[in-house]
Amino acid sequence: MFPRIDLHTHSDCSDGLLSPESLVALAAQRQVELLALTDHDTVSGCGPASAACAAAAIRFVPGIELSCQWREREIHIVGLQLDVADAALLSHCSTVLARRRERIHAMTQRLSRAGLPGQELAALTLKAALPTRTHLARALCRLGVADSMQQAFERWLKRGRPGYVSAQWPQLATAVQRIVEAGGIAVLAHPHRYTVSHGVLRELVGEFKAAGGEGIEVSLSGMGPADADRAAALARRYELAGSTGSDFHEPDLPWRPLGRFAKLPDLITPIAARLAP
Ligand code: AMP
Ligand code: MN
Ligand code: MN
Ligand code: MN
Repeated sequence: MFPRIDLHTHSDCSDGLLSPESLVALAAQRQVELLALTDHDTVSGCGPASAACAAAAIRFVPGIELSCQWREREIHIVGLQLDVADAALLSHCSTVLARRRERIHAMTQRLSRAGLPGQELAALTLKAALPTRTHLARALCRLGVADSMQQAFERWLKRGRPGYVSAQWPQLATAVQRIVEAGGIAVLAHPHRYTVSHGVLRELVGEFKAAGGEGIEVSLSGMGPADADRAAALARRYELAGSTGSDFHEPDLPWRPLGRFAKLPDLITPIAARLAP
């Protein structure tokens, strides 16, 4: 048995379904020993998650997952162990939140033009503390427009589909800087999910490292063995520590189970070793 270290999870403070407290209760059930809450562009769940972890004897790591832009692509950077009261980080988050709300308005207007109930979709989606395309997909399912989340993305929400509006995310170097200046450790999230060639992925990792990045996700739920090998090779080539996690969003999605993923390969330095005890 290896230590259960889940350093990538979401609560309903972003697009997860569980409250921070319920997420921690599930983590306790799954025998997670070290847990980071890494909601998209917000640290608002870290206070309640920290208190719940203290009560459940789980080590807690305050975290975030920042959306950013690199060469017209959307990249996600996880920040671990950051100061959740850092003023520049909080200001970054409020700017992104305002842009996310505007994006949802623009997307629902496009969906209206495609004949869907845009106002109802907007009203449902904008109830969320931090509205994302995930919430819009749930609203499409709730109104019976789509049968599943996957179908909602495939037909309406992904790039090139009628509801898609591109987002203006901050640059990669800015996102890494926000994390580092808040005292955190920046980790390149899910490298296997970027649809780029190996050469371009190496350039991304090189620029991420040059910007101050320290880690890369090497063992994530849903990564196949070939994906994990490629991520491990990048970790070694760029001398990055390896991170582990689930990218958990909701209990009923079997492919991202909280606290369940492959062991980190022996040759990779665990990012957990860099976290304060
Ligand atoms: P946003 O940040 O608003 O663009 O929303 C992105 C979120 O949508 C991601 O964090 C994922 O949780 C979710 N997502 C993206 N693509 C899909 C998909 N094909 N199926 C289900 N969820 C997705
Ligand atoms: Mn998400
Ligand atoms: Mn992500
Ligand atoms: Mn995530």
